[in-house]
Amino acid sequence: MPQDSLSYIVTNGDTVYLSNTPGDSNYQTVKNIPSVFQDELRQNALAEEAKKDTEGLIAFWSTIALLIAGIYLIARASRNSSLFANEQFSNNNDDEDYSNATPASSCFMYPGKDLRFSNNEVHNICSKYNYYYNNLSGEKKDIFISRLKKFLQTKTFYICSNKGYKEMPVLVSAAAVQITFGLDEFLLPHFENIVIHPQEYFGTNPLRILEGNVQGTSINLSWKHFLEDYQNPTDGKNVGLHEMAHALQVQYLFNSGRNTNEFKEDFVYFDRVDEEIMSRERNRLGSLFDSNALSNTNEFWATSVELFFEKPHELKALYPELYKGICIVLNQETALS
Ligand SMILES: [Zn+2]
Repeated sequence: MPQDSLSYIVTNGDTVYLSNTPGDSNYQTVKNIPSVFQDELRQNALAEEAKKDTEGLIAFWSTIALLIAGIYLIARASRNSSLFANEQFSNNNDDEDYSNATPASSCFMYPGKDLRFSNNEVHNICSKYNYYYNNLSGEKKDIFISRLKKFLQTKTFYICSNKGYKEMPVLVSAAAVQITFGLDEFLLPHFENIVIHPQEYFGTNPLRILEGNVQGTSINLSWKHFLEDYQNPTDGKNVGLHEMAHALQVQYLFNSGRNTNEFKEDFVYFDRVDEEIMSRERNRLGSLFDSNALSNTNEFWATSVELFFEKPHELKALYPELYKGICIVLNQETALS
């Protein structure tokens, strides 16, 4: 008997991943349908065709709208000569070698192992931009810097702009170290690439405009939104932490062939409360989560992590069981003072 499923390409909001888990509620697959159902299949096909006609029209106008938005973004990028940070890369000026780098040919590639940052440089950058780092004790700051440098050295950075800044690899690595600071494993080895766009960018499959996403072995971020979100540490919005939260899921929950680890084991403490809270929020009994967060459990997880770091007291007061669940999953507390 042929198998009715092999592996599944899952597209879920801003996350695209392969799954071998039939129980994954989001998987898409093709099943073998017995011949007795062929009439029904034909009828369904006719209905599908009619539906496709309508969807085709919607898709056409959506594409036109995206193209117009794209032209606007490109025009804006050409005017945008300064980003927030002011220090440019000095470690690797040999751009020529990297001009055809993947994953995007228009991006410059910087292997993390070639980027040399002193502890002092990392400390200065994190002190200026990362509120989480600033609230750590001296001893924990040392651990944070050590972890950050290890993380940075294992990644390849793609800067999709004609200007790169030292802050880019350091601060994106800092977001990963922040979310994993309580965990023994923090390198997210599945993700070999960090792709940094100057601002919003196009995502494909489906075509959409993004501020951040994880896809394949890459974590992609809009630098503009990444920095803006870190400059507002209490608004509950942080695209860097959001994407790192998805990256943790992909690393430990969605990847096949992985036995277990502390994150995977403890995720049950989040999983057992998420549906009920989503339903309360959908019924407008609460107001912490936006519609994207309530669209599926993966977005709910990523947004919960943003709130855990940026509105911990509100999250704890409204949903103590959810707050506690994230404390256990990430092995750290944020509602301390
Ligand atoms: Zn998301």
